[in-house]
Amino acid sequence: MLFGNIIGQKEVKNRLVRTVQDGRVSHAQLFLGHEGSGALPLAIAYAQLLLCKNRAEKDSCGKCPSCLKAEKLIHPDIHFVYPIALSKEVRMSTNVASQWREAFLQNPYLNLHDWFSHLSAENKQPVIGVEESGEILRKLSLTTYEGEFKIMIVWLPEKMNVQAANKLLKILEEPPDKTVFLLVSENEESLLRTIVSRTQLIKVNRVADYEIKKALIEKYQLSATDASRITYLADGNYNTAVKLITEKQEENFYLHQFKEWMRMCFTVNISGIVSWVEEIANAKVGREKQKEFLSYGMNIIRECLAGMYGDKKLLRVDGEELDFVQKLSTKLDGSMCHRLSDELNEAILHIERNGSGKIIFTDLSLKCIRIVRQTQAQTT
Ligand SMILES: [Zn+2]
Repeated sequence: MLFGNIIGQKEVKNRLVRTVQDGRVSHAQLFLGHEGSGALPLAIAYAQLLLCKNRAEKDSCGKCPSCLKAEKLIHPDIHFVYPIALSKEVRMSTNVASQWREAFLQNPYLNLHDWFSHLSAENKQPVIGVEESGEILRKLSLTTYEGEFKIMIVWLPEKMNVQAANKLLKILEEPPDKTVFLLVSENEESLLRTIVSRTQLIKVNRVADYEIKKALIEKYQLSATDASRITYLADGNYNTAVKLITEKQEENFYLHQFKEWMRMCFTVNISGIVSWVEEIANAKVGREKQKEFLSYGMNIIRECLAGMYGDKKLLRVDGEELDFVQKLSTKLDGSMCHRLSDELNEAILHIERNGSGKIIFTDLSLKCIRIVRQTQAQTT
């Protein structure tokens, strides 16, 4: 990880670089920052810088053999400890090291929930167990493989159980030679006071709004308006910002699909509907997305109803969605909305019961055409 690839945090980066330049690298440091602030990537970039064979002025070179290994999280002198879901087979971090590398390299701003989803262990308790401390000692007693330092990065030490925390404290009191501990925490309050007092504090603030906005525009080609809106909602959490983009993209997908489908129902475009069903009922889309699409449709219908009978200011849509809701409202009435909504809901239930997607969506389309045509017949 290069400092250059981390969003914002100029001050912390400069401060860390200076410790290396001045040869004042403290043996235990506590990177303290909110979720999504980049505390973990900063600690990893710092470790890479410490071991780089050809440091540039403000960053590691990214090219020497040491950097190349550090980039892939396989440097033999950089060790990791992180919360795991304890089981018979999984006793300590090294047991799930390959998953850890995969999860971090996919998303260096990951939070604990992301990590546990990656392990498919969302319902388990994240913990750093006591066996981990023995492993830490074992790893640190190894002679350095190729670097000046042995670095132990502990992500979320607040998840250590009491025994593990006490053992870590002992290690911090008498650290093995040439070791550097980088604790990366989101919550100082849950750490032993004695551990905190043994470390040098590196405070990592939330990412500045203008830095998040800039990154979203550069990396995801968002418009300035979309980037501002997402930045505002993300509140200094870059991980959240990126997730909001994905949500927005999915919403766009659902909106376009729903618009197209409604248009074909109103114009009774049967051949169009047949090919649309082929697309949406495809195994690649998957049942979860099909259900989300139908729920999305129900939301749109609900918004139409709200627009007809309630205060228009209460509508929860904007932009292209609002446009669509307003147009659709002029073609529907209350009873149609209820019947359409019931049919969409019924289709969700059939998908949950593993019915055939093609049959469900074809049947649903025909029912919707009937609802639309009956009402059109009544009004003419
Ligand atoms: Zn290097």
